[in-house]
Amino acid sequence: MAGCSVCGGKPFYTRRYSGEVLCASCFDVSIVEKTRRTISKYKMIGPQENVAVAVSGGKDSLSLLKVLAGLYASRGNGIVAVSVDEGVAGYREEALSHARSLASELGVKHLVVSYKEMFGFSLDEALDWEGEREASSCSFCGVFRRRAIDEAAQRAGASVVATAHNLDDFVQTFMMNLMHGDVTRLGWLDPSHTDASFPLRRVKPFMELYEEEVALYAHQAGVSLQSVSCPYMHEGLRSEVRDYLNIMEANHPGLKNVLLRSSLDVISHYAVNSEKHSVPCAKCGRPSSSGLCSVCRMKATVEEHVKSRAEPSAFGGG
Ligand SMILES: [Zn+2]
Ligand SMILES: [Zn+2]
Repeated sequence: MAGCSVCGGKPFYTRRYSGEVLCASCFDVSIVEKTRRTISKYKMIGPQENVAVAVSGGKDSLSLLKVLAGLYASRGNGIVAVSVDEGVAGYREEALSHARSLASELGVKHLVVSYKEMFGFSLDEALDWEGEREASSCSFCGVFRRRAIDEAAQRAGASVVATAHNLDDFVQTFMMNLMHGDVTRLGWLDPSHTDASFPLRRVKPFMELYEEEVALYAHQAGVSLQSVSCPYMHEGLRSEVRDYLNIMEANHPGLKNVLLRSSLDVISHYAVNSEKHSVPCAKCGRPSSSGLCSVCRMKATVEEHVKSRAEPSAFGGG
């Protein structure tokens, strides 16, 4: 069996789409190097810029924290880990403790914000009502999480938020937008997109890395795996798209890379003019498309339900 394509050492991983055979340490180096190239290609992080890494405590985000801390340790960029405690009993504690211990191992500051503190209710409380929800729990939670991360990043003095979305996530999201008929929303996926009305940029330094390779990197790096999954998770269509893409990739190595390039090409035709699409939210002042941002809209719905549940029914039922 042939040795590592780089150093001749003991083979550890075969990158099927390129034919490279890598030993464990050359594999790790290749992940860091690919991330560095992605950051530079899309000008994701500027010199001396402070970066907030969104750390859920899952393997992808812990790996991103490790890679970025390593890349920027000596460059004068501040790196801070930010985590959100959604308030899901029995689920979030473990992930937060993984995040906490990696941050302290790396000597990186770790900031945790909670839904309760920021919005007045935990996710458990928000989802604890019957009836129609305007969004599924994941997209509902995603809207709040995104806002909480932005707030935390701004408190930490960062100007850019790095999230751990990998190539698989990117291509899945692209395909799901197509399947939902949301073609005009594709522009928001543009990695070079910046919202002129909002001081914080979002970047995805792992967007050119296969999920499988990030998982392997995490394993090698000794990143702790979360044993509990979110009780509210129901991915529906996304998991079908993931399975489909994995089958296609197994039969046609490199197909996901091609899909990423095609996605980026299509996305560039839907580039978002953020100034045209952005009006300040009447309640919180953040950019919105309709004058009321999705956070404030959903928050009002939750508050209404939480309130109506607290009030005894006039008919004495219950
Ligand atoms: Zn090697
Ligand atoms: Zn708002």
